[in-house]
Amino acid sequence: MHDSFRDEYLNSLELRRAFSAPPLTLGKWPTPLECINHPSLGRVLVKRDDLAGFGGESRSGVKARKLEGLFMHMQSNGLNTLRMPLGNITNLGPALMAEAGKLGIDVHLDLVNDPPLPKTTRQDIHSAYTDIAKLHGPSYISAAIRLWSSLLHDRLKSKRSICVPPSPAHPSAIIGMARGYLEMAQCAKEKFGGLPGAIYLASASGTSVAGLALGEALGRAAGDPPVRIIAVQVVPEPLRLWLPILFTWTQRYLRPARIPFPKCEVVAWPKHTIYGRFTKAHETICARVETDFGLIIDPIYGAKAWDVMEHSALNGQISSSRPPLFWHCGFTPTWRALAEELRV
Ligand SMILES: *Cc1c(COP(=O)(O)O)cnc(C)c1O
Repeated sequence: MHDSFRDEYLNSLELRRAFSAPPLTLGKWPTPLECINHPSLGRVLVKRDDLAGFGGESRSGVKARKLEGLFMHMQSNGLNTLRMPLGNITNLGPALMAEAGKLGIDVHLDLVNDPPLPKTTRQDIHSAYTDIAKLHGPSYISAAIRLWSSLLHDRLKSKRSICVPPSPAHPSAIIGMARGYLEMAQCAKEKFGGLPGAIYLASASGTSVAGLALGEALGRAAGDPPVRIIAVQVVPEPLRLWLPILFTWTQRYLRPARIPFPKCEVVAWPKHTIYGRFTKAHETICARVETDFGLIIDPIYGAKAWDVMEHSALNGQISSSRPPLFWHCGFTPTWRALAEELRV
């Protein structure tokens, strides 16, 4: 990224420090920003984080961005142990273990049965680390209690550990994703003469979308026109309540730097909010998007965001002057193998 561009968005020393280079680059940056022609939406920009070369089948770009942020936080605070819950749909687990190992970070995963699957299937999914992590039940509340008690234990033994919500939802990971927004904004201006009007992405823990909203807030503060950030909720937990908590936490984390409060719209359609589950209709969207545009998305995340984006066009919500952008976060390589169990 050009320094002048960066400095426009990061207008204080604290912000520049928070956004400085991570200790380990996990993805190939910048990822391409492409433009496709959609029969009803017209021009659509696609941010190809699926080409970042990280995670399951090397197609999990947003996970790389989030982990870069978290590792930077851990390193600058001398933290060497990470505790985190992890569900059954994971594009993160094996890559996280490998990369943390390189930095000498000790990872403790608490394996939550979400979406619920038979034990043998779970053992397969988590085979890279079931020897060191135990399979637990479906409750994230129980996972949180287990993790907090481990954290207390660590404190008593003066162990330098950090405990984060799934995915990892932490301000440092949000900043990692906001770096991606700045990367996109620079490229969109240079290549397409301006910013998109709206950005659509699938949202589970809310971390990725919070990062885009943070980047957008920095852009607005620097004089950019507003960009609508649209979180397509793929979990039952209400992101509308959780995102303001993430934003407040991030604002506090960045202090004394002052940033505008990030803004985000949440779309929670019942057909999309059973986590990890999908229907034939979602699979049909995946097949069509692959045939028409050569983009490989999955029915657990990508197809749901794509569906909402296409419906926005029907409702006349897409501005004609500034194209929408589909943030291709990544891909769940296990979805076909699990289709029989996950389809509803
Ligand atoms: C992780 C991921 C997301 C976004 O997840 P958040 O937990 O909300 O950050 C979206 N799509 C895919 C394919 C993913 O793997």
